[in-house]
Amino acid sequence: MNGFRVGFGYDVHQLKEGYDFWLGGIKLEHVKGAVGHSDADVLIHVICDALLGAANMRDIGYHFSDKDPKYKGIDSKILLKDVMKLIRDEGYEVGNIDITVCLQVPKVNPHIPGMKTCLAEVMSLPESSISVKATTTEWLGFVGREEGVSAYCVALIYKV
Ligand SMILES: [Zn+2]
Repeated sequence: MNGFRVGFGYDVHQLKEGYDFWLGGIKLEHVKGAVGHSDADVLIHVICDALLGAANMRDIGYHFSDKDPKYKGIDSKILLKDVMKLIRDEGYEVGNIDITVCLQVPKVNPHIPGMKTCLAEVMSLPESSISVKATTTEWLGFVGREEGVSAYCVALIYKV
């Protein structure tokens, strides 16, 4: 198992009316959207954190501060591209990533193929390396009350 490393990412964003809802690099049509300093794409943020964690390179907030006006409203796909460059510059390649998004409404499943295509393009990876899954929380907790969206990601990377 020489050179194999795993990483884990977790993130939450509030959902509020009047905000765009970016998820997995695509925009969902919904009455509420995710609130954040960037475009608040929780799915991309957990990929970034899992990859950085796997490479032992801190986290997304360390590299892209939410105090920095440069990142205000930024497309998270740009951050993900930067993270891919950071880990590839350290000699790593991505084996696979596996994501679970927790969202009560709207349904995520119909959008998963589009997300995978988008993420594969941004990360320069085959779609077969990217798994996106979704679950509700059965109307329980902040996700169930439609107050927020959360996501988890594990990533496997290896030294090229
Ligand atoms: Zn985030």
